[in-house]
Amino acid sequence: SGMTDPNDDAAMSELVDRARELIPGGAQTGLRAQAYETGDVAFDSASEATLTTVSGERYTDYHLGFGPIVLGHAHDGVDKAARAAIDDGVLYGAGTTTLEVEVAERLVNLVPSIEMVNFCNSGSEATYHAIRLARAATGNEKVLKFEGCYHGWHDYVDVSVYPPADRVGERYPESDGMLSAAVENTLVAPFNDPDALEDVFREHGDELAAVILEPIPHSVGCLLPEPEFLERLREVTESHDVPLVFDEVISGFRHSPRGVQYEFGVTPDLTCVAKALGNGYPVAAVGGRADLLAQAGGDNESGVVISGTYSGSLPGLAAARETIDTIVEEDVQGYLTNLGDRYRDGLTDLLEDHAIDGRVVGHRSIFSVQFGVDGEPRTYEDVLGLDEERFRAFAAGMRERGQFFTPNPYKRHHLSFAHDESHLESYLDAADAVLDEL
Ligand code: PMP
Repeated sequence: SGMTDPNDDAAMSELVDRARELIPGGAQTGLRAQAYETGDVAFDSASEATLTTVSGERYTDYHLGFGPIVLGHAHDGVDKAARAAIDDGVLYGAGTTTLEVEVAERLVNLVPSIEMVNFCNSGSEATYHAIRLARAATGNEKVLKFEGCYHGWHDYVDVSVYPPADRVGERYPESDGMLSAAVENTLVAPFNDPDALEDVFREHGDELAAVILEPIPHSVGCLLPEPEFLERLREVTESHDVPLVFDEVISGFRHSPRGVQYEFGVTPDLTCVAKALGNGYPVAAVGGRADLLAQAGGDNESGVVISGTYSGSLPGLAAARETIDTIVEEDVQGYLTNLGDRYRDGLTDLLEDHAIDGRVVGHRSIFSVQFGVDGEPRTYEDVLGLDEERFRAFAAGMRERGQFFTPNPYKRHHLSFAHDESHLESYLDAADAVLDEL
């Protein structure tokens, strides 16, 4: 189980060869080629904490679909709720539904900043809509984001997520084919730097439509925000009347059903949620101040178009309702925080035992091991020096021992409610063996 050399697997290689002719990079996932760095890989089922390949090899999954799977794969309750929605027809696109009201009520009751909410299907759509609402409300065009924060694939935000060391401080477009006017209107500042933030506001405060951030930038593992940074951010955006947007696409519902905005005591004007909201079903939302959301009312008074054929589709909303209720009722946050601490402590001890330079970072159900760096990372630049080769070797060794996570050294491990002591034990045993070989 997970012990064979993935490169020798004929069935898997045959499928991957076909995929590469039909699909750019041979897979839908954004990681594409990276997924294959440790050998051909093709999965066709998942249950609880386990991913199974087309050849029947089983892996404990720490990727969890990039994070949405907070309750575990093929969760009975969530799938039952979605199936009930399927039986009633998946999409009406024609008026109010019970499910949208029920999920909206939950979001408004739980998340401090959310007074009204609009549903969509992905995190990228949510950040796109948030920025459009903010631009409409302010009449301004420029958006400020932070190095190392990912907010989706669209041209407004796919800037300076992973700039190379010699492009830090610039507006670095992450993709070919982006609209230069969009990139020019996306300003970039270092995370956790209140002085740099105030410099941007001194120069551009009157031109800003929004400031957007991951309150914990998990796209580069885990940068915990300094309380002073979040406070100054809230003050300076408020005094300039610039909507503050928290992208809680990863943190929302995974770290807390109230969002980390509740934990940090800072209330933004707009909040984006997706991923763990639906335990893997495509459902997302932009919520926030009623006056900002009301711009999208669709009547003569409201000028913002938020649209989408599949927005509010019913299996996703049913999944969201069940996921939210389970997270709240079962104290998933408490369980995952405790389990995450045990993984972090175990890994930290192992690095020490094997005298390997590195650090373990994370928050609650998320953790990353970063080789060749030490100290608490606070900015994107603090992550830049990590040892990529060593992480890839670690990921390959762990995969041979049945532990699956992306070989991208800047990403993170996720835990789900289906992970338990037995997974912890086999993960740490595997890590012990792999670190011994590194
Ligand atoms: N924001 C954050 C913080 C994310 O991590 C992601 C996805 N990794 C997105 C936005 C975009 O979400 P989606 O992939 O659902 O479009």
